Amino acid sequence: MEHSQGTFVSNSRLANMNYQRKRPVNMDNWKDVKAKTLKNRGMAYESRDGMLNEGKRPPQAGKKCGARCDFEGCDLDEQAKVSIFNQYYEMGSIEIQHTHLAALMSRFQRGRTTRSK
Ligand SMILES: [Zn+2]
Repeated sequence: MEHSQGTFVSNSRLANMNYQRKRPVNMDNWKDVKAKTLKNRGMAYESRDGMLNEGKRPPQAGKKCGARCDFEGCDLDEQAKVSIFNQYYEMGSIEIQHTHLAALMSRFQRGRTTRSK
């Protein structure tokens, strides 16, 4: 589906909405859409209630989430982490980002549940 950065309305639908309008709808100029796009790109944005939110900072070298963590993602070097970070925030859309993350996840097979200790 063709859509502009923050809105899920097709170009033909938008053209239809703007047909014979003196002042055409431009969703990209909507405050909320602009803020949403900035947020999804990991940049600083102002929320609806006027709160300023900082942008995301790229990951730093040698920073581990915990001493006991043995996930391979923790051992990546800074460059790899930064490239993943950039790749994620370049998507710029929460739907695409979530789809991307979901594709990388796997489900654990859950064992038998017992109530006793
Ligand atoms: Zn970790």
